[in-house]
Amino acid sequence: MARFLLVEDDETIGRALRASLTLHGHAVGWARTGHDALDDAAKGPFDLVLLDLGLPDLDGVTVCRRLRQQQPGAVIVVLTARDDEMDVIVGLEAGSDDYLTKPIGLAELYARLCVHLRRVESGRQVTSGSIVLGDLVVDVTSRTVRLAGSELPLRAKEYELLLRLAADPGVAVAREALISDVWDAGWFGSTKTLDVHIAALRRHLVARNGERAVPAIVTLRGHGYRLDVP
Ligand code: CA
Repeated sequence: MARFLLVEDDETIGRALRASLTLHGHAVGWARTGHDALDDAAKGPFDLVLLDLGLPDLDGVTVCRRLRQQQPGAVIVVLTARDDEMDVIVGLEAGSDDYLTKPIGLAELYARLCVHLRRVESGRQVTSGSIVLGDLVVDVTSRTVRLAGSELPLRAKEYELLLRLAADPGVAVAREALISDVWDAGWFGSTKTLDVHIAALRRHLVARNGERAVPAIVTLRGHGYRLDVP
């Protein structure tokens, strides 16, 4: 469980992010303006601040700089709709640790945050944007998955599903959480789609099996799935 401060003025995005983070068991504070964010940050420590740069009152970079002063121990991840190199550079100079560009799926966003959370929890610096689980390497920057060195030819949703499971290895993830993260909130398709994608992922994992033990996706009846890593 981590303490998040979400700084986002867009109600739809904010609600989806808060729901997703809460569903994963985190404590989430939500500030809709720069002033509210600074007030919240003054009240208590946060592990991770997810900061939208485009705020209605203050400039996001200014907010970032002040948050960095108030919360020296927090990881600050900037969320920006502007894929502008200058914004990124200025944001990083203002003390952010990483940036994500909107639009971004919840599964990818959560996985990126998990890389930082692990850094918070272990107190170690993570130098690359990868989730490494034994032979399984999920590279969140290039969206590729390697198993014992071979790249798995995953389709987009298969990748996102594996990423979501790999973000919490050994942890039971509810079907609802998987569906809302990978297919986004408001997806009303058949939940059978989830099982079809799980079956496809298992085929990919087993196809590269050889003599080695590979990560296994375990079915938890009536609940969901769990990725077990040897
Ligand atoms: Ca905004």
